[in-house]
Amino acid sequence: MIRTRFAPSPTGFLHIGGARTALFAWAYARRHGGRFILRIEDTDIERSTPEAVQAIFDGMTWLGLEHDEGPFFQMQRMERYKAVIKEMLAAGTAYPCYMSPAELEALREGQRARGEKPRYDGRWRPEADKPECPPDIKPVIRFKNPQDGVVVWNDLVKGKIEIANSELDDLVIARADGTPTYNFCVVVDDWDMGITHVIRGDDHVNNTPRQINILRALGAAVPEYAHLSMILGDDGTKLSKRHGAVSVMQFDADGFLPEAVINYLARLGWSHGDDEIFTLEQFIAWFDLTSVIPSAAQFNTEKLLWLNQHYMKKMGASALAPKIAERLRFQNINPESGPDLEAAISLYVERCHTLNALRDALLPFYSEVTPDAALLAQYLSDAARPALSEFAAALETVEWSAAAIGATLKDILKRHGLKMPQLAMPLRVILLGAAETPSVDAVIALLGRERVLTRLASMTG
Ligand code: GLU
Repeated sequence: MIRTRFAPSPTGFLHIGGARTALFAWAYARRHGGRFILRIEDTDIERSTPEAVQAIFDGMTWLGLEHDEGPFFQMQRMERYKAVIKEMLAAGTAYPCYMSPAELEALREGQRARGEKPRYDGRWRPEADKPECPPDIKPVIRFKNPQDGVVVWNDLVKGKIEIANSELDDLVIARADGTPTYNFCVVVDDWDMGITHVIRGDDHVNNTPRQINILRALGAAVPEYAHLSMILGDDGTKLSKRHGAVSVMQFDADGFLPEAVINYLARLGWSHGDDEIFTLEQFIAWFDLTSVIPSAAQFNTEKLLWLNQHYMKKMGASALAPKIAERLRFQNINPESGPDLEAAISLYVERCHTLNALRDALLPFYSEVTPDAALLAQYLSDAARPALSEFAAALETVEWSAAAIGATLKDILKRHGLKMPQLAMPLRVILLGAAETPSVDAVIALLGRERVLTRLASMTG
C-alpha cells in the first residue's frame, strides 16, 4: 500500500510551498488508495511553539487535506531514536567519536586551506587506528557511511541521481548530549511509519543519499523519492514574505477560497493537458508524480485571482453571503443595515476577484460614504446639474426597479440633450463614492430609495 507523509517543521505558519508539498503527497496517497501521514518535525524547540504547530493544523484543515494517521511528533519519539542508535552501536553501523569541537575545527580549517571540502576524516571509525580515548570528552555518535560505491536513486521528479560515497562523511546521528540529529530522526520515522514515497521539497536532495545509506544499514526498505522544485515569486526570485502572502492562512485572510488555492497549487509544477480548472476528484484521478516538472514553478498572482473569482462565481451568491457578512461584521458593519446581501453579491461578483474585494465594493451599501468633492467636480458639469436635480425629484416617486429607474434616467437625458456618462458618472460618485460601478440603474435600485435620496440631497444641495 502507498504511504506518503507530510513532515513540516513548524515555523509559525504553513508556507504555500509546504502546502503544495502536502497537497501532492496527499493526492498521491488518495490516487492510489493509500494512506497519508502527518508528522510534525518539532525538534527545534525554539521555533516549534504550540502556536506554530497549531498554524500547521489550521492550514491543513483550511485546505481540506485530511491525514489518515498522526499527527506524530518527533519530540515524543526520542526514546525510539535512542533505542535505534543503541542497536546501531551494537551492530557496528554507528560508532562513538571522541573528537573535540576544537579538533574538528582545526581539521576543517586545514582542509579549507588546502582547497578541500571540509569533512570528517573518519579517525574514530571502528577499524581505524584510533587515537587514545580522551577521558573528559562525551562522544558524538557517527553513522559509519560506506566509503566506496555510489548511492543511486531514481527520483520520481528529477530522474536518476547519483552521489559517490566518497562525497559523504560519517554523519553525526547523536550529539554529545545524546539527542538524535535531524536526518536520523527522519530516517527512523520514514522506516517506522512504513513510508513508501517520500515527497518533499528539493532542498532535501542533499540529505537523501545519507538517509538511504542509514536506511540500508538498518535493513529497512528504501522508499521512492520525489523532490519537488521550489516555488518562485511573480518576479522569478525565491518566494518569500516580500512577495506578499506566503502563509496559507494569509490567503484566507486576504479573501481567497480554499478551493481556488488548492486548484492553484495543483498547477504549480504539475499539469494535465491544458486544464486550468478542475475539481479535487479530477485532480486525484489525474495526479501523477511523473508529470511534475523538475524545474522551478513560478507564482502567478493574476492566475490565482482569476481562479478565485471562478470559484466565487461557482459558489453562488447564497453561499457567499455568510462569508461576506462575516467579513463586514469583522469591520463592525452590520450586513442587515443595507440591501439584501445576496442581491448585492450577484451584482458585484463579476467585478471582484476576492472576498475582500467584494466586501470592499459593497461597503457603500452598508455604511456611509464619504463624499469626494474633488472627484464629483471632475464628473459633474454645470450643464448636467439641472438634469441631476430633476432625476433626484423623479426618484421620489418612480417605481423602484432597475428597469423603471433606467427608463426615467434615459428620458431625462434625452430631454436635456445629455449623454449617459454626464449623469451616470456623477451619480456613481455621489451615491457610492466611486467612478467605477456596475450599471447605474442597477446600483440605484440596489441601494434603495431612502439612501439614494439622502445621498443625492447631501451632495446636490
Ligand atoms: N521537516 C522538513 C521540512 O519542513 C521536511 C523533511 C522531509 O520531508 O523529509 O522541510
